Amino acid sequence: MNESKSAPCPICEAAAAERDPELHLFWCADCRHLFTKLPKTAQETYGESYFDDAHKRWFENPDFGLFARVERAILPVAGTRPIRLLDVGCGRGDFLKWLRPRHPDWHLTGIDLAPNQHPDIEFIQGDVATAPLAGPYDVVVTFMVVEHLEEIRPFFAKMRSLLADGGLLMVNTFNNDSLIFRIARAFNRLGLSSAAYRRLYSHHHLQHYSRRSIREILVRSGFDVQEHRCHNYPLAAVDVPAAGRLVELVYRAFVGLVFLVSDPLGLGIEHTVFCRPAAPR
Ligand SMILES: [Zn+2]
Repeated sequence: MNESKSAPCPICEAAAAERDPELHLFWCADCRHLFTKLPKTAQETYGESYFDDAHKRWFENPDFGLFARVERAILPVAGTRPIRLLDVGCGRGDFLKWLRPRHPDWHLTGIDLAPNQHPDIEFIQGDVATAPLAGPYDVVVTFMVVEHLEEIRPFFAKMRSLLADGGLLMVNTFNNDSLIFRIARAFNRLGLSSAAYRRLYSHHHLQHYSRRSIREILVRSGFDVQEHRCHNYPLAAVDVPAAGRLVELVYRAFVGLVFLVSDPLGLGIEHTVFCRPAAPR
């Protein structure tokens, strides 16, 4: 009965053991990476409305604090010259539209599968793997994209090829080591509630990065990690399950408490990593 399956880790290629057959989760003990490996038949199980309904608050509440932090990291790279910046998977272009009036001389490009428009921002509709992008860029940023990828090594290799040698890459994604993810896993394991667990590990995210695995993929892709922070996003952006007003209030209060405690402990829900191309060996 105990037939254990394994799959190669998409980061370090070690054999990763199946952790949850129902959600198709695999765990790499070497780099502490958790990933979802869906059978081909299960890969298109959510439609467009999923993002509208389930992620409504997320899209309505951009994290301006994070935008400002990323801007502060870019300023030393920019100095006084106009830089070229690429936002990969820019979504609705919130970050670029926030930057535009602040840095009128920067050349801003956003690429996403979805269409976008702005008179002073270059928006490209397409896949970063194949789109005709005129690199190299001084700065490449990618917010909440790398958790959706099935193949991650080609993506990070592409980021390296798009970046100028002295450039800066910023990667932002969910933190599988965060307190809220740990609590969700513990609740599920203890049979208390599987709601948060199932929500966090639903199939729309395929890669669940640990502190170690996000750094591992960056180093293997030719980057030196300069700064790595695990932090939370604004509570207003937390998507709450539609389960009645009281349940929503309790859920929000609980998440608020976990966010309050986890931020100073470095156990926040997302990773933000700044890195530079490594010097050639
Ligand atoms: Zn691994």
